[in-house]
Amino acid sequence: MSALLDLLFPSKCVVCERPPQLVCVGCLPAPRPQSELLSGYRLSYALDLEGAAEKLITGYKDLSKLALARHLAGYLDEALELLPVRPAKILVPPSSRKNFARRGYNPVELICSKSPMLRSLNRVSARSIKFTLDQRGLSAKDRRENLEGAFEVESGSGPLLIVDDVVTTGATALSLASASAAAGFEVAGICVVARRNSPGQTRESKKA
Ligand SMILES: [Zn+2]
Repeated sequence: MSALLDLLFPSKCVVCERPPQLVCVGCLPAPRPQSELLSGYRLSYALDLEGAAEKLITGYKDLSKLALARHLAGYLDEALELLPVRPAKILVPPSSRKNFARRGYNPVELICSKSPMLRSLNRVSARSIKFTLDQRGLSAKDRRENLEGAFEVESGSGPLLIVDDVVTTGATALSLASASAAAGFEVAGICVVARRNSPGQTRESKKA
């Protein structure tokens, strides 16, 4: 439906709201790849989730502007460059049944399919095994509890990369990391497009 609406009504930029493109070249935020340790796992990301970066992600996830996936994939590739190892296998968080029914696709899968670096890698599958609440609006502690034991990962071995669009507290990525370790994988890192800094949140360590 939204694709049809896009055809009927010409696009405007999700950042500056001017036509005719979904995002003007000048409105794309410059990538600032950074990496830090998140509970002992190497996390890398290309954008801080604020300003234009936030509008891009919102346009993609909430307004279903799917053509933005290729731009987000470019940022993901920048973040990937920071990881010391390039695993041959990747894991993407499974969509909740409700989100999948609403969107009809997994937004992170779609971004990976547009990434020259990620699309050819083997996918490891995970499934949700617990009813979870929407993470939005939950505190960091509640997010962790909400997602504890939430996933089951197919068994396997070797280095594995966890890929997501946004990390806030890291609850989803960390829950997937422990499920992956339990399934036999060695988690080589977590790679996301953007990192949201929640106010009052303390970083364990920060390295450029
Ligand atoms: Zn613009």
